[in-house]
Amino acid sequence: MPAMLVGDHVMVALDDLAGLFQLNVREDVLAGGVTVGYKGKTVILTPGQALASAAGRLISLPAPPSRDGRRWLVPVEFISRALAVVYDSKLDVRKNARMVLVGDIRVPQITVRQEVLGPQTRVTFAVSPRTPYTLSQEPTCILVRFDADALDVTLPTFAPEGLLQSIRLSDPNSTISIDLGPRFGSFRALFVPQEDGGGQLLVDLMSGPAEQAPPPTPRGDVPQLPVPPAPETVPPMIQPAAGGLRTVVIDPGHGGEETGTKGAAGAQEKEITLAVARRLKASLESRLGVRVLLTRDGDQAMALDERAALANNNKADLFISLHANASIRKEVSGAQIYYLAADQAGEEARKATSSRQTLPTVGGGSREIEMILWEMAQLRYLSQSASLAGAFEEQFRGRVRLNPRPVQQAPLRVLAGANMPAVLVEMGFLTNPDEEPQLVSNAYQNTIAQALLDGILRYRDLADRPKMTPSQEPSPTPSPDTARRRQ
Ligand SMILES: [Zn+2]
Repeated sequence: MPAMLVGDHVMVALDDLAGLFQLNVREDVLAGGVTVGYKGKTVILTPGQALASAAGRLISLPAPPSRDGRRWLVPVEFISRALAVVYDSKLDVRKNARMVLVGDIRVPQITVRQEVLGPQTRVTFAVSPRTPYTLSQEPTCILVRFDADALDVTLPTFAPEGLLQSIRLSDPNSTISIDLGPRFGSFRALFVPQEDGGGQLLVDLMSGPAEQAPPPTPRGDVPQLPVPPAPETVPPMIQPAAGGLRTVVIDPGHGGEETGTKGAAGAQEKEITLAVARRLKASLESRLGVRVLLTRDGDQAMALDERAALANNNKADLFISLHANASIRKEVSGAQIYYLAADQAGEEARKATSSRQTLPTVGGGSREIEMILWEMAQLRYLSQSASLAGAFEEQFRGRVRLNPRPVQQAPLRVLAGANMPAVLVEMGFLTNPDEEPQLVSNAYQNTIAQALLDGILRYRDLADRPKMTPSQEPSPTPSPDTARRRQ
């Protein structure tokens, strides 16, 4: 459809729309308006006014209709805002992609970003709505192919660097190509579902082969410096030991004098968190054979920093903090899973984290090392933590009542220092009269522990595989509970 600019506005001719959409356009000279008819319904436009009346509803437009010789021009938004009201199929204008979508066709909006995070480069695809995709690695590029009729894509502009040369559409209807630089060695991909029905696909590009053993990772209670194997070699990204899940730390919230939240009937958060932690520990040990540590196994107080420190000192692969929630409104309900929000302070720390420093080496010369600030250890694991949160949400669904906003980010101190994927689970609201008796019941505590176990399995399976199609991923091995539900 021909379009033209009038001022800043993209305009289309009503005559062209009339041909495409079977509209009946009439100018009412006396009334000074233009009437657009479609199957007995009308849209009325008034020259000089950035408004339309569509089937009696007043609609705002970004610009008034304007005359071009004998034709009337309307802003392209007229289609999605006004015509869509009277039309009998779905109409959607994608200005960026210069498309008008008629009917139910799949054209996901994809915004691609690129950022250098220390030694790795991250390419983020914000996809809305969630769309199945496949990743494939070619000799010079990674292809991301979406299952769609067309793509509405916004691509970043940036200078080529060692890991990443360019990002471009290789097939406008389905495929985006990540063109790799000479330093590229391997990649990891994670899909993070978002609450709005969309999601983010994170593709991390790293130097060095995928098989390479992870470097000595900086864990412990003092900042440590990973030593690169040779000068000019950038240390690979710290990999979570996902497949080799060895140690899980479970953190029962509160303890001792610090009781946490209390329910109206007297239930105490610190007791619920410990009870669920013990159940989860038992099932993780027996089902997965992993080492499970509790930050406390009794009724004692413990500082937030000590909890993450215990996980770091034991080289835990996952950190899961358990809590029960409270609200001033009794009706608020449902479990929520939190992972760390990198707020502004976090962003600055991340920049500092990825800053290179040059240290003299034994035998002369210097080498670049990467500083990792202890307090911000978690920033390197945000995408894995988001993925773990997503896995828990998925496994809770249908078994544990979820809050309308099930996955959230917050600047939680207990997570910030954890040097591994880490989430905090609010298992329900003790202030909700239905949920208080549930939270103390054996049945509910077992269900939550089972859902957490299945979420950990799911996360492990997801993190293991670089190729994935969200709609085609196999479910984790059905647990006795889920198997029974399916029957
Ligand atoms: Zn709490």
